[in-house]
Amino acid sequence: MKVKDYSLNTIHTIDVEKDFSVLEIASMFLDQNTDSFIITKNEKAVYIITQTDLIFLFFKGYEDKTLKEIIEEFPKKIFTININQDIYEAYKIMRGAAIEHLIVVDDNEKVVGELHSKNLVMKFVEFALKDEMTGLYNQRSLDTIKARYKGTNTRIGIIFIDIDNFKHFNDNFGHNIGDEVIKQVANQIKSSIRDIDFAFRYGGDEFLVMVFNQEKDIVLKIANRTFNKIDNIEDEIFGKIGISVGVSFYPDDSKDLDEVIKLADKNLYIAKNSGKGKIIES
Ligand code: GH3
Ligand code: MG
Repeated sequence: MKVKDYSLNTIHTIDVEKDFSVLEIASMFLDQNTDSFIITKNEKAVYIITQTDLIFLFFKGYEDKTLKEIIEEFPKKIFTININQDIYEAYKIMRGAAIEHLIVVDDNEKVVGELHSKNLVMKFVEFALKDEMTGLYNQRSLDTIKARYKGTNTRIGIIFIDIDNFKHFNDNFGHNIGDEVIKQVANQIKSSIRDIDFAFRYGGDEFLVMVFNQEKDIVLKIANRTFNKIDNIEDEIFGKIGISVGVSFYPDDSKDLDEVIKLADKNLYIAKNSGKGKIIES
């Protein structure tokens, strides 16, 4: 995972030659609602002023000092990272230097972005738990959730979803459109479930939903709602999307959660083999 794959914070830069006063910079902080300003010279970073610095400068009564005076009086090492570096390197620099802002530069050292530690942490968590393409939870998360609920009495409805004839989208419109189909299906799944339920990307065009603590009819309602939402998609490029769905219930169908998931998969297989485009429950 490269730095450039992250959505970097919008950068706010000030050309050092403008030589604004602290007061002028403070007003820019207010106007632009930012954490920091990167001071540049010929588009290369030479300094960074953060909100914390601003507080300090005001406490010191330095409102009328100019940028150049500030830089001279409080020299500061700035930390940059190339946009093509691994994101883990960015993390190591920030941690090693105990800094919150890391300036992202291109091959010519030109400032192109900024990483903020708090965003980085959340990105790491997201990266570890979610499928990048769809934003749904990944296989690793599924294992964690399975381990968490194994052997408990928590009711879990399993909804297994697979796109019908997905290969057709790839073959007829190309891989990017295939990706788009997967994303649209994922979005409809996300919007069909409650915040406390989980949707996973199980594989290429396969998805798994876990619905917690609900009666069977509610789980089926959610399966139907998802089905209808996807059925309603009518894209001007790729047209319509069909799905097949298998549903099963833990612990009613089996006390073994893995078996229940297998059963949902089996029901999905039955749906596929009986003409596709339907929901089969256990
Ligand atoms: P069925 O109706 O029986 O489900 O057939 P299908 O064509 O939907 O499914 P199949 O499992 O035969 O093919 C799935 C294909 O999805 C195979 C793989 O090349 C493709 N695929 C897997 N992951 C991705 C992805 O992330 N993006 C794209 N565009 N294609 C993917
Ligand atoms: Mg498929």
